[in-house]
Amino acid sequence: MNQERSKRRDARELQLRKDTDWMLKRTVYCGNLRASDIGKTVTLNGWAHSVRDHGGLIFVDLRDRTGLVQTVIDPDAAPSAHSVAQHIKNETVLALTGRVRQRPEGTENPRIPTGEVELEVSDVEILNTTKVLPFQVDQDTAVNEELRLKYRYLDLRRPAMFHKLKLRHEVVKRIRAYMYEQGFIEVETPIMTRSTPEGARDYLVPYRLQPGLFYALPQAPQQFKQLLMVAGVEKYFQIAKCFRDEAQRADRQPEFTQLDLEMSFVEQEDILGIVEGMTIDVVEALSDKKLIKPFPRFTYDEAMRRFGTDKPDVRFGLELVDCAQILLGTEFGVFKNALESGGQVKAVRYPGGGALSRKEIDDLTAIAKEAGAKGMAYLIVEENGSVRSPIAKFLSEAEIASLLAATDASAGDLIAFIADTPLTVAKALDRLRREIGERQQLADPNLLAFCWIVDFPVFEWDEENNRWTFAHNPFAMPHPEHVDLIESDPAAMRSFCYDLACNGSEWASGSIRIHKPDLQRAILRKLGYSDEQIDEQFGHMLEAFSLGAPPHGGIAPGIDRLITYLTGDDNIREVIAFPKMGGGLDPMTGAPSTVDARQLEELHLEVIYLPEDSD
Ligand code: ASP
Repeated sequence: MNQERSKRRDARELQLRKDTDWMLKRTVYCGNLRASDIGKTVTLNGWAHSVRDHGGLIFVDLRDRTGLVQTVIDPDAAPSAHSVAQHIKNETVLALTGRVRQRPEGTENPRIPTGEVELEVSDVEILNTTKVLPFQVDQDTAVNEELRLKYRYLDLRRPAMFHKLKLRHEVVKRIRAYMYEQGFIEVETPIMTRSTPEGARDYLVPYRLQPGLFYALPQAPQQFKQLLMVAGVEKYFQIAKCFRDEAQRADRQPEFTQLDLEMSFVEQEDILGIVEGMTIDVVEALSDKKLIKPFPRFTYDEAMRRFGTDKPDVRFGLELVDCAQILLGTEFGVFKNALESGGQVKAVRYPGGGALSRKEIDDLTAIAKEAGAKGMAYLIVEENGSVRSPIAKFLSEAEIASLLAATDASAGDLIAFIADTPLTVAKALDRLRREIGERQQLADPNLLAFCWIVDFPVFEWDEENNRWTFAHNPFAMPHPEHVDLIESDPAAMRSFCYDLACNGSEWASGSIRIHKPDLQRAILRKLGYSDEQIDEQFGHMLEAFSLGAPPHGGIAPGIDRLITYLTGDDNIREVIAFPKMGGGLDPMTGAPSTVDARQLEELHLEVIYLPEDSD
């Protein structure tokens, strides 16, 4: 009996020793082997990417983070290695020793950097086995996203995914180097803090020591970076995690990363210069994407007028054409009514759109309607130069001729018109312009067309809640000549707010800040905060502003999105190591999860389930 037990213990110890004292430690990485290594004896560590048994010869493509190399286990040359190798499956963890040799003529693989050589294996050590894999790592077959995220560590083993992680690392490293070079200091700001109004819901953390109190996770380090300016840091940056509880979209995650920066004694131009320089440096060093240099600039009003959006895709033209002048005396009711009620009639050209079927035109109209328009009128230019359109009969020849000239239309084109309020016209035509650009493949996929949008409004009217809200954030400095408009015409006020857009998405957002307490209070009052609320929520900021705050400003470009610009991914989940799924769920860890009743009790919390929570 005792003997049995001690035998079992010996076996266990042997196993333990085997697990910890493994013999074959890497001397070189798989992906680095080249023809110049032929004849060398090396040890490789990694995963069996794929295994093929060719009548006795076992081929294992061994993978580590640098890449793949082919290895061969020959039963005649290495019988004991071969008998161990029988147990190798895809993703078995291996240590292989052998001699690097030239691959036999005709079997080279020019698609991989190690394709000229292979390892003639003499020793095999299995470092760990694997259960049946939930999906194959060696194939690019489409795997359901939930499964990929549940086994994200397997998903990340795929070379293409590792490449993205690595690229992200290179980008952040390069950004840091650039910022250090420019004299910026990296400062960490708290994750447990109080709410900053950035326009989203906060994630809250209950405070155990006093019931009813909560920390908020930062939507951005906005207040801290401003306070660092008051502290005299002058040039701050941080690769900052931000947390926002808002509707999930392809380009959103509940937590994401920004390059957050702030500078003192600067003007807008200084901030734009730093970010433009950094962006060009990173993109040119780490990708083969093309840029338009210097980045084009538009005022907010100009961008809205020309593209109908404050984040235009400027890789192609098709700018919106205002038809009001041409249609001043129009008899066409839809156009006439829109213009007489203070609205607009604007158009966008659809090159080659004349070939659309009735059904396809209806689909285009549906897109405009989804964007809020009541309808879409159109003209088609025939090959002989005449026009075909349900509305042609309502327009004079002179009007038609002017519309064609203004939109630069030629034979085969379709002109789409939207007549509505300025905001709806902008929204619908922006949507149509993007749709046309995509259908006609007008945008060069290799071009990253960054452009600056400046002079944003200070306030926006919030129809739903019948009040003024901030267009950007409540800390942006209004143009000095507009400060007096705060009561008389707040909508006309413009601020030193700027966005950097790229290929139709917003990438960075920032502003020169208000650094005087009175002006900050006046803006907050206009946003509907009472003096008590201002003192309660922003008292610390106003006090800091009254204790020698320098003029300052900053910006925060998104790191996740930058990586997608470089990789060509649509979804930022692809470039985040451990992202959440839609709805903020993490199928790998099971977060968010319930917690112990005891934990809730300690936090003085009780969960109340409402009837609608149960569906
Ligand atoms: N806090 C702003 C944001 O997160 C950026 C800034 O104004 O610096 O978008």
